[in-house]
Amino acid sequence: MAFGTPNYLFESIYDITPDFFIKRGVCFVMCDIDNTLVTYDDIIPPASLVNWFDNMKKNGVNFAFVSNNEKSRVETFNRDLGYPFIAKAKKPLPFSMKRLLKENGIKKNQAAVLGDQVLTDSMAAASLGVMSINVPPIKDRTGAFFKFKRRVERLFMRSYWRKHPESQELCRIWHEKTGNRYK
Ligand SMILES: [Mg+2]
Repeated sequence: MAFGTPNYLFESIYDITPDFFIKRGVCFVMCDIDNTLVTYDDIIPPASLVNWFDNMKKNGVNFAFVSNNEKSRVETFNRDLGYPFIAKAKKPLPFSMKRLLKENGIKKNQAAVLGDQVLTDSMAAASLGVMSINVPPIKDRTGAFFKFKRRVERLFMRSYWRKHPESQELCRIWHEKTGNRYK
């Protein structure tokens, strides 16, 4: 697969169970916020998301937020969750993630990156040598730059679906969310 292609795809974060991480030896998930967990308009996590995090924590799966967004956005979102975080993380550069692993005493094979963008989240994961998991954007931005990034992503996602021809349903969902054609 092309460098930066996600290792795993899910329709939504709510389809990811603690078991998924535990089976793969992952105990630390470096997670994007915008369009992965909530839309840009959601200031704080909804109850369903808080429950999802609680369940992960109970099962020994810890999180950190790695966002390219402003510190105030991440701080407010994380106020009740209290996870380690890095704002203005400059993804796809891997340095903020590298720092999080070091500060939390986590080895690369115990970590994963969860996000919605290949060119930031999955690229950072690949540069660092960490497993990457993608979900489709919850509600994509419509600006020209975003559209351009989604177009470029097609190449990586095609590479995924060539290797996983069984997951055509996910391919359809991605198309619905991003407008991209993957064939
Ligand atoms: Mg995002």
